[in-house]
Amino acid sequence: MSKLVQGYEVVIGFETHAQLSTKSKIFSRASVAFGAEPNTQACAVDMALPGTLPVMNIGAVERAIEFGLAINAHIAERSIFARKNYFYPDLPKGYQISQFEIPVVQGGEVSFFLEVGKETVRKTVRLERAHLEEDAGKSLHEDFIGQSGIDLNRAGTPLLEIVTQPDMRSSEEAVAYAKELHKIVTWIGICDGNMQEGSFRCDANVSVRKPGGELGTRREIKNLNSFKFMQQAIDYEVRWQIDQIEDGHAIQQATVLFDPDTGETRAMRTKEDAADYRYFPDPDLPPLVIGRDWVERVKGEMAELPRVMAERFVKDYALPEYDATQLTQSKAVAAYFEATAKACGQPKLASNWIMGEVSRRLNASEMAIEQAPVSAAQLAALIGRISDNTISNNAARQVFEGLWNGEGPSGSEGDVDALIEAKGLKQMNDTGELEKIIDDVLAANPKNVEEFKAGNAKALNGLVGPIMKASKGKANPGQVNALLMKKLR
Ligand code: ADP
Ligand code: MG
Repeated sequence: MSKLVQGYEVVIGFETHAQLSTKSKIFSRASVAFGAEPNTQACAVDMALPGTLPVMNIGAVERAIEFGLAINAHIAERSIFARKNYFYPDLPKGYQISQFEIPVVQGGEVSFFLEVGKETVRKTVRLERAHLEEDAGKSLHEDFIGQSGIDLNRAGTPLLEIVTQPDMRSSEEAVAYAKELHKIVTWIGICDGNMQEGSFRCDANVSVRKPGGELGTRREIKNLNSFKFMQQAIDYEVRWQIDQIEDGHAIQQATVLFDPDTGETRAMRTKEDAADYRYFPDPDLPPLVIGRDWVERVKGEMAELPRVMAERFVKDYALPEYDATQLTQSKAVAAYFEATAKACGQPKLASNWIMGEVSRRLNASEMAIEQAPVSAAQLAALIGRISDNTISNNAARQVFEGLWNGEGPSGSEGDVDALIEAKGLKQMNDTGELEKIIDDVLAANPKNVEEFKAGNAKALNGLVGPIMKASKGKANPGQVNALLMKKLR
């Protein structure tokens, strides 16, 4: 099911750094709060002063366990911290503490829906691992002339690096994966997901090959911090690699950066191999031991996972799998749906409205559902008025529009009836009840029907009269005519 680009298959694997939402750092007590004055949140451990020792933050481990459970991975009973050695000014120890040979989270998978043409298909991306590590500091180049500054506030910030198998086959799949992963980590609350602040950054490993051939050489696009750039960067990279190969050049393994201003990727450095880092177990930290009881305890304390909730929606509300997945995009959307469905007793209609009118308007105004001007109670009341035939679907859309624009006086579900009244939308001017009345009148007046069919146009009046009467004058005459003609022809 791979989509080929100029006869090439695209292969993508992701490495994502999710900053864990602990209060303090992974191996020290310094705060991880964002935006502090440089070097005000770096303690002796973060500055690598001699004689200091790292102490594992239990909160970071717990978040790694939560992630492993969320993606159905194996949680290692014993994992090892390693030193990844490299020289860089923002890394005062000269090594980063990470996990190498034995990571804490092993395997697992992330699956999501994808629109392919007119179809929605489910795609599953296998994860290789997720490991705990510390972030490095930051070099500051902008405020200095002929010098660089170092800010160690970020040094020691806890990260979970989440690595996939090379399972994605297009930029669309890659973005859909990243969005799903983002949903999972924010849902379970292990990461705030703020991409601008760097709490969730993705590296995309991209290669191309002729279908069925061996994996091509990859280039790694570093630090993609928006879904839009992610798509642009991968699309550019794919075209660039194909052009190179078509021109007879081999791809060199490299780390590249995406420049949003030019829309291009540029090589930063040729890529190190694992051997260059001289990994070895960190003698300052004992193995990380996680017993089954700890895993069970964490499991018991976790909120319902999105995929579990989606399964429940399918079962309890008889929703299609696609709807259930869309409605579990965030806890807030799911809560809005459940409140609406419970209040109106029509889950599928609730789903249609939320995935249609509601999300269209939210998207158009870049609003979160928490800010939606139409409450779940109001939407439920509106759906109730469609099902009891008080208003047509069209009229309901007008009422919805009114509610959305703040025309409802109180913000309560009572506004729905008030607006229907005020807009004069209460009907019988549509199908449903009106059609039933017409059918009854036709059945009761066979003579008029016969005469009309024989060519006597005036016989129609003998039918319209009783219909208007039966509808207590609420039927729309134009519509009565149209419906009558349809039924008589
Ligand atoms: P490193 O840690 O050196 O970056 P890994 O072997 O751990 O390298 O792979 C990192 C990521 O690159 C993984 O997500 C993996 O799926 C992906 N990857 C590996 N080979 C390829 C390839 N040929 N094309 C695309 N992605 C690849
Ligand atoms: Mg890498």
